[in-house]
Amino acid sequence: MLKLTFKPYTLESKYVFTVASNSRTTTHVMLTEIEYDGLVGYGEASVPYYLGESLESVGIFLSKVDLSIFSNPYNIEDILHYVDSVAPENNAAKASVDIALHDLIGKMLGHPWHRIWGYNKEKTPNTSLTIGIDTPKVIKQKVEEAESFKILKIKLGKGNDIEIIEAVRSVTNKPLYVDINQGWTDRQYALDMAYWLKDMGVLFIEQPLPKEKIDDTAWLSSKSPIPIFADEAIQRYIDLIKLYGAYTGVNIKLMKCTGMHEARKMIEFAKTIGVKTMIGCMIETSCAVSAAAHLSLNTDYTDLDGPLLIKNDFFDGMKVVDGKVTLNDRPGIGVVKLY
Ligand code: MG
Repeated sequence: MLKLTFKPYTLESKYVFTVASNSRTTTHVMLTEIEYDGLVGYGEASVPYYLGESLESVGIFLSKVDLSIFSNPYNIEDILHYVDSVAPENNAAKASVDIALHDLIGKMLGHPWHRIWGYNKEKTPNTSLTIGIDTPKVIKQKVEEAESFKILKIKLGKGNDIEIIEAVRSVTNKPLYVDINQGWTDRQYALDMAYWLKDMGVLFIEQPLPKEKIDDTAWLSSKSPIPIFADEAIQRYIDLIKLYGAYTGVNIKLMKCTGMHEARKMIEFAKTIGVKTMIGCMIETSCAVSAAAHLSLNTDYTDLDGPLLIKNDFFDGMKVVDGKVTLNDRPGIGVVKLY
């Protein structure tokens, strides 16, 4: 019989983390476990407040999930279809069940998911490290501290975009991603910036305009010299279909799309329709990020820096070595508890 348990945990950030919409220093997560036949799978829901979920809502959702009705953990499709039907939304809560179930199944099989899925573990990508919005002086300092990273993701969208990029470029020539977090409002400004950013060595722009501005985004995507990625606009698989043509890339995160199972389907579908893919994360422990790291073997870009931004990780799992995502051979998602 499958048994689901959960408990809250608070992550403390190394820095005050500022994006276009907010600043914060702590993030709440719910840590889940699914136990079966003496084995335990670990999962996690990260619930930064601006995403609409909370520890309370995750707790309420998980209390309604009755996995004891399933006798065979291998029936992932049936189990996750049931979990999805318990209540609408609650995507991070659903992801915490999905991740724990994958971890459990991997442990039952005795293999890590990168192997089960047939990916080559040696082909893990470099991950970007995110630099939050700050003064040019602090940004330069953060860029210099990020020496081991081969790619940086720069947060923009608070009015000092050019100043920030020029500060970054005064200290490094590394390729950059930029993430606007819906902070721009004018499509012509966005297009002008796209050309300028391309000249500044930026590979793509993430969520430049508010997610509701679908027509303006489609206009921008059709004219931009670099891909326009969706983040806030695309949560789940169905959104890829609804927004077909509006974006030329998608940032897939386990907490948005309900977990590894749906993320993998989204990656395959995005590739089929010619949309670039990135696997991203929230501020979260090495549990959820390790789960996502297996999928980084099949995406165009990777932004898995979550555990690097916190002081009190609860798990040992995937590592970032010289800027490169590095997977281990532990079964399941590849994590062990630190406490
Ligand atoms: Mg983003």
